[in-house]
Amino acid sequence: PLILLWHRRDLRLHDHLALAKARQKTARIVGVFCLDNKILQAKAMAPARVAYLLGCLQSLQDHYQRLGSQLLIFHADPVQLLPKLANTLGAQRVVWTLDTEPYAQQRDLAVAQALREQGLAIATEWDQLMHHPGEVLTQAGNPYTVYTPFWKNWRQLPKASPVSTPKDLQGLSAAEQEKLDPLGLQAIPQLTDLGFSWDQPLPLAPGEEAAEERLAWFVANVLEEYQQTRNFPALDGTSQLSAALKFGVISPRTLWQATVAAWDQSRSEEARASIETWQQELAWREFYQHCLYSFPALAQGPYRSPFQEFPWEENQDHFQAWCAGETGYPIIDAAMAQLNQTGWMHNRCRMIVASFLTKDLILNWQWGELYFMQTLYDGDLAANNGGWQWSASSGMDPKPLRIFNPYTQAQKFDPEGEYIRTWLPQLAPFDTGDLLTGKLSPIERRAVNYPDPVVDHNQQQREFKRRYQLVK
Ligand code: FAD
Repeated sequence: PLILLWHRRDLRLHDHLALAKARQKTARIVGVFCLDNKILQAKAMAPARVAYLLGCLQSLQDHYQRLGSQLLIFHADPVQLLPKLANTLGAQRVVWTLDTEPYAQQRDLAVAQALREQGLAIATEWDQLMHHPGEVLTQAGNPYTVYTPFWKNWRQLPKASPVSTPKDLQGLSAAEQEKLDPLGLQAIPQLTDLGFSWDQPLPLAPGEEAAEERLAWFVANVLEEYQQTRNFPALDGTSQLSAALKFGVISPRTLWQATVAAWDQSRSEEARASIETWQQELAWREFYQHCLYSFPALAQGPYRSPFQEFPWEENQDHFQAWCAGETGYPIIDAAMAQLNQTGWMHNRCRMIVASFLTKDLILNWQWGELYFMQTLYDGDLAANNGGWQWSASSGMDPKPLRIFNPYTQAQKFDPEGEYIRTWLPQLAPFDTGDLLTGKLSPIERRAVNYPDPVVDHNQQQREFKRRYQLVK
């Protein structure tokens, strides 16, 4: 019997639940990936993310080949393609990993229906989270809307260990492969074939090996100090595994196991506190996916009602200045330069620039949410929407008005001005204190072609609060 494993956000063969279960039934397992125009041509797509995706597909295809099978690539709508493909090959069943995003769920229902109509069997697994939606509920049986109680419950639930990875697979014969040409079987396209361009190195190289190596490096060099290192954007002090997690290039079970092993070997209370802090980040990722699954309307707009009618500014010039990193606030502009040049931004800076967009420029957080999705190589609907709603105070977070002062943030988290100087080299010669407090004179700014501040922080935060009181 032949099983088709339809890959989506599970671009790995290591520690893959649906694969491990399928392998118990047969060695004839072939991977399929559909380049889906509904995703690729959506306005929330980022060149760096597509570059990472294509690289991961290449690595997955190589991995299949090493095991003796194939990853088949089609540029097609999976609802149309999968029944035809399964019939052409006489596949016994199609298996896949479930997803929490609203579009993915609709698509999967349509695919399942189309396959069943043709009499084809399907099997699905939850596999992108340690605990899937429905597993972490309040005592009353409801989904959590606040992180801390979610975490307390999530952390004490028993955790699954990694599953075994097949050492060999059997693929299609040459004659079977020939049958696929009419269906549009193709090689992995170039980025430019899909209408994107990205020529920078990605923050993490695509593929399973790079993610596993990065995890090992992170555990050996950073994890035990993560509680401190994670706050300083000038340091390489976080895992950089966000895109690998988003595309399922590494499994959450593998990450969890690494934290448990590190915990067992840890030598101090501080080390254990750091490991737990990182585990909490993994739980944030799961929390936001549970929220999106249970409250899909989050993807469309604010959760909290005062924000449904909030009188946002419509100032396109301010928005463009924010996107381009030309606000005249060094920490903001450095962070946006990091995003625009690398496709990634440090978490501390994501919080600072998001607060600035919403509380200082008083622009709709959804503009920022979209811009992040158009630029981040780890852009992920649940995490990004969660992060923006948290920053805008429009989400589930119980603390309503969190306003970051960009100068105080810079002083605390970039005390030597190293991050600012890296991303804004034209400001490198200035005094660190002036960089952090923004006390550069108009003449100094002009000399290096750096803009004056677009707004005044104190005035704007008062204005934001005034508007908030009006709608509350
Ligand atoms: P680490 O610090 O090593 O954390 C480990 C993993 O935990 C991350 O890879 C990520 O998967 C998860 N994680 C950490 N923090 C969060 C968080 N706050 N929410 C959800 N998951 C988290 N993360 C994304 O993966 N995609 C996004 O599109 C995204 N957009 C964001 C937008 C805003 C406004 C904010 C404030 C945060 C956003 N985040 C997003 C969360 C966080 O900034 C990134 O996950 C993190 O910076 C990635 O770097 P890392 O892998 O080195 O993280």
